Amino acid sequence: MLIGTHTLMPVCACLAVDHASVAAGRGRIFSVAALWVIGVFGALPDLCSPHLSLEARYASWSHTVWFMAGLVLLAAAAGSFFEKGKRLIIAGVCWVAAGLHLAADAVSGGIAWNYPLTDQVIGRYWIPPQHWIWFDAFFILLAWFLVRVLPYLEARNVRSDSVVSESIEIS
Ligand SMILES: [Zn+2]
Repeated sequence: MLIGTHTLMPVCACLAVDHASVAAGRGRIFSVAALWVIGVFGALPDLCSPHLSLEARYASWSHTVWFMAGLVLLAAAAGSFFEKGKRLIIAGVCWVAAGLHLAADAVSGGIAWNYPLTDQVIGRYWIPPQHWIWFDAFFILLAWFLVRVLPYLEARNVRSDSVVSESIEIS
């Protein structure tokens, strides 16, 4: 998969959670800074070992379970920069974002999950490379839509809150 999908798939999932949270009157969970960090974690396996060919991906240390194990510490460190009460959530989501990257790569060519101990590959080309760009386009449009709609959702909730408080004052 391409970098747009890796970056925006977890960001879109977080934005969808924010939509649900705002609709329930609880406000956003993920700040803009958190979404950026989560997006970077989604791209991290490719940023750590940039490659073009599938063979190079199979020889990549950042597409393995060992990378994911080490990433627990980095995700915890990233989460520690955020406000208390959200640190664990953001750290967990950062780690899952990198995990989604490996899952997406597994269904689009496969990953050598245990490199360099073994060359065993899990997954294959269920999604061929000529379709990857459409996933990028989809997640770009979805992210744009979710970002644009969220303020309207928040404004609607603020208005309905003020209607409730006005009716309480009148009564
Ligand atoms: Zn990758």
